[in-house]
Amino acid sequence: MLYPGDAPVGLQALGRLAGWHHESPFRVGVNAEWGSWFAYRAVVLVDTDLPATVPMSGESPCAGCADQTCVTACPAGALDECEFSLQKCIAYRRRPESRCRITCVARTSCPVRPEHRYDDAQIAHSYSRSLAMIEALY
Ligand code: SF4
Ligand code: SF4
Repeated sequence: MLYPGDAPVGLQALGRLAGWHHESPFRVGVNAEWGSWFAYRAVVLVDTDLPATVPMSGESPCAGCADQTCVTACPAGALDECEFSLQKCIAYRRRPESRCRITCVARTSCPVRPEHRYDDAQIAHSYSRSLAMIEALY
């Protein structure tokens, strides 16, 4: 079991390399089947003949998304100019009146596969953990 563990592992980068998602403007992976409502939770190294998964075919849902709702929805303007600003996102999330303390407004505004959206309690759980990490680091 490599992750969870002591070593930092870029879970999203691994998922992208495996061909399981495309990158979204708000940097969470997105694909046509699940939207952005999936996550990578563990990395296990195995020495077996498990069949390899086939990389996704087709374009990112973002390629045909004319409205780019996520970009305009972000209250921090962190997705403006086609470049994600981690600094703007973090600064906004830390504000006491922030709408993103326990969610990502950009993510919840994406119209792709809304039927897979996590319920509010799960979203709050995940984002309160990331906010706690941000507060510990900054
Ligand atoms: S709103 Fe559009 S651009 Fe933003 S993540 Fe969803 S599909 Fe991609
Ligand atoms: S968490 Fe909020 S500030 Fe950060 S990208 Fe999402 S919508 Fe923008």
